[in-house]
Amino acid sequence: MMNPMTPELLAWLTSIVGAGNLSTAQADLDLHARDQSHHPAHPGDVVIWAQTGQQVADILRLANEQRIPVTPWGVGTSLEGNCIPLFGGILLSFERMTKIVEVHADDFQVTVQPGIGHRDLNAELARYGLFFPPDPGANATIGGMLANNASGIRTVKYGASKDNVLKMQVALADGRLISVGSRSIKQSSGYDLLHLFVGSEGTLGIITEATLKLMPIPAHMSAVVAAFPSVEAAVETVVAVRGSGLDPAALEFIDATHAVMLSETDGVDLAAYPTLFMEFHAAHEATLDYGIEMVREICDDLGAISVRATTDTAERKRLWHARHHSYEIMVRQHRDKHFFIMDVAVPISAYPELIGYVEQIKKERGITAYMIGHAGDGNIHVEFPYVGEDEYAQAMQADHDIVLRALELGGTATGEHGVGIGKARYMTTEHGAALDVMRSIKQALDPNNILNPGKIFPALEPAMA
Ligand SMILES: Cc1cc2nc3c(=O)[nH]c(=O)nc-3n(C[C@H](O)[C@H](O)[C@H](O)COP(=O)(O)OP(=O)(O)OC[C@H]3O[C@@H](n4cnc5c(N)ncnc54)[C@H](O)[C@@H]3O)c2cc1C
Repeated sequence: MMNPMTPELLAWLTSIVGAGNLSTAQADLDLHARDQSHHPAHPGDVVIWAQTGQQVADILRLANEQRIPVTPWGVGTSLEGNCIPLFGGILLSFERMTKIVEVHADDFQVTVQPGIGHRDLNAELARYGLFFPPDPGANATIGGMLANNASGIRTVKYGASKDNVLKMQVALADGRLISVGSRSIKQSSGYDLLHLFVGSEGTLGIITEATLKLMPIPAHMSAVVAAFPSVEAAVETVVAVRGSGLDPAALEFIDATHAVMLSETDGVDLAAYPTLFMEFHAAHEATLDYGIEMVREICDDLGAISVRATTDTAERKRLWHARHHSYEIMVRQHRDKHFFIMDVAVPISAYPELIGYVEQIKKERGITAYMIGHAGDGNIHVEFPYVGEDEYAQAMQADHDIVLRALELGGTATGEHGVGIGKARYMTTEHGAALDVMRSIKQALDPNNILNPGKIFPALEPAMA
């Protein structure tokens, strides 16, 4: 049973964080009421900006005793409603926990507070010649990335957030502050609690500090852009490049319409063909040149219309700038529409079939939808512009069908955006009896269901007083 917020509770919370770090102003509640998805907004009762792990633990202890929901918030760039405070209560923001605690440069590690943006972190780390590889388009926070197990364009080489974290401090629902994992690269000590919390979307505990794995900034990088006469040829090339052992650092599929849209960016000129963006990293220039030649051959063999390679840093950055801003570019070009972005992933061998299925749905149902995806990981995003109930329902139906097809193909309902509200209905189909085990874990760690209620498990909605 959840309780409403009271003046007495607000006074207790103020005594933990100080009056300047808590707000019930409507503008603050509204700013933290929705993410970047199509899910309706719902405000919390109070926004709290924590500043230390101990404050977070103290807030949770109080919220647990008083049965108040707590929803953590990074910067709200989720795409499945993950950070919407569905049942009100405390919206716990990490916007004021943005410190780099320590750079362990000799160990290729950094310890940070959870609210730092990954781009801001990388700007600082450049001084050490190091970077944190996971790169979702938005300047997401490290806490939000770990909680959603976010990925992005570099996952094909460097892994997802889960592969780039070693240790975390986590506040539990009962107010304990625990440390999980270790700074050792190898860890074989007991249950892997570190990775239990990664991807749990703030439903099992709240990350208050994280030690991340870093990589040296590569000495040489190249970008390759290849255009193909058909979606099939482009997607077959993805599988061939992955199979060649070339180890791309990015391998992105962009459909023909999107390719034209990206040409809005200064210095980017793409034709209306299904296109692959690739990036390669190497310690030696010769290795890079050899790799580019191999990619050219693969693309030519599979019928590429054009293959353009560059090692020019400015040109490479322009291309990735366009790719990173594809969402904003698309929104600008459809000012009268809302957007719904869906995310599924399949084993790489099933990628051509999945993409073929999306094409088929678009054609048969006359739907406008764009495809852009981290093809090297078997991950696709289908973006539906919509306005009005009919177009929304059509997009939802297409989304549903694509998710089911991805599951049939041995894939997952979400490759990187997480479950949130939107994907909760697929959890039984995807996980079967394993979902009961997840429920048991949730029950053990958060028996009163105060942590981000209404996410991942739709059945675990708290009763409100
Ligand atoms: C244009 C655009 C492009 C995107 N591209 C990608 C992409 O390529 N790859 C990708 O993976 N994602 C992508 N995303 C989705 C989004 O950026 C990621 O899911 C990101 O990890 C969210 O981070 P955030 O800081 O905004 O977290 P929020 O959205 O604020 O929160 C995310 C989740 O984490 C929880 N949370 C936040 N902080 C903590 C904490 N300290 N402890 C515990 N739980 C916490 C929240 O409750 C919520 O469940 C994109 C989003 C947009 C808008």
